[in-house]
Amino acid sequence: MKIGVVGGGQLGRMLGLAGLPLGFQFRFLEPAADCPAARLGEIIRAPYDDLDGLERFAQDLSFATYEFENVPAETAQWLSERLMLAPTARALAIAQDRIAEKTTFRDLAIPVQNFIGISSANEIDAAVRKVPLPAVLKTRRLGYDGKGQRVLRTNGDDAAATVRTAWDELGRVPCILESFVDFSAEVSMIAVRARAPGHGSVIAFYPLTQNEHRHGILWKSQAPAPCDRDGQLADAAQKYVRALLESLDYVGVIAVEFFVTPSGLVANEMAPRVHNSGHWTIDGAVTSQFENHLRAVGSMPLGSTECKGSSVMINLVGRTPINSRIMEIPNAKLHLYGKGARAGRKLGHVTLTGPTAKSLEAATAELEKIVVWDV
Ligand code: AMP
Repeated sequence: MKIGVVGGGQLGRMLGLAGLPLGFQFRFLEPAADCPAARLGEIIRAPYDDLDGLERFAQDLSFATYEFENVPAETAQWLSERLMLAPTARALAIAQDRIAEKTTFRDLAIPVQNFIGISSANEIDAAVRKVPLPAVLKTRRLGYDGKGQRVLRTNGDDAAATVRTAWDELGRVPCILESFVDFSAEVSMIAVRARAPGHGSVIAFYPLTQNEHRHGILWKSQAPAPCDRDGQLADAAQKYVRALLESLDYVGVIAVEFFVTPSGLVANEMAPRVHNSGHWTIDGAVTSQFENHLRAVGSMPLGSTECKGSSVMINLVGRTPINSRIMEIPNAKLHLYGKGARAGRKLGHVTLTGPTAKSLEAATAELEKIVVWDV
């Protein structure tokens, strides 16, 4: 079975690493030379919207998927007219537009903060009346790792003027103004849905993961989430994500990020793909998110999402410590993506697994000393 993956970054690489033992072959569409997925399969080196490249990429594939959500809409459409693309072009389109994403959540009774779109300067006065500061102004499209957004606080200034300045700084592109959420933690639910021939569909959930960001980039994930002492947050997240997956007739892995607030979960965004906050599943779950994504997209039975105890994952960004220092830590598993060092770039991650969260505390503290980011 030959699988096409749009994008040859680290997520493509980890899909390849998970799929090769199952007998899958891979072809990646990737414009950059020497990408992380390069050694895992055939690379079609072409821009994502290049028709000739797409023709060569799509030739005799069993199915196609993607590893990042900024795949051009025309490319997703072109592929889905010729072969099975999962997750669908519709799920991708929703995730590419923060307004469509929040509207989808709201329509499904998934709690979201107040939000409003701003696409011209004369909408700003009305927008701040609906969504007063403190708020966050984000570009509707193409934001990632905290880029393309500004946190706006009140300090007695004219709120509309504050938003106008931020909107100018973001390039006067269509934006979303959303209320600032005073959260106590951030969590994500990684789930997978597959169509089961003759039996409708199946959905499997990984344990809720708690995430900590630094400089807008994921620093650490812990699963199961320590903030969810009685499992109520995981129950709520499962309910919301199930509704989303069913309404989209979704196939594959999805990640939905939530803020934890005194009144419960507030959905922030979704990624229609394997996700950084699920990397711990490679070492900490019976079946990783990567393998389950391939199983779902390939219409195969899903693997168990049971976790082996507790896991902690820490990202390596900008530079990597000396490998042997990580290998000295008991139960530490090092994953490098084969990328050159550059400030702000995700170069790898380290996962710790153990029977309980407590059993990981010393190793986590050790790892947190060794890992120094360059951002
Ligand atoms: P995002 O690109 O939407 O994932 O935002 C990146 C990070 O910014 C999130 O993980 C939060 O830490 C923070 N953030 C985003 N939106 C809000 C918000 N409305 N209120 C408070 N913090 C936010």
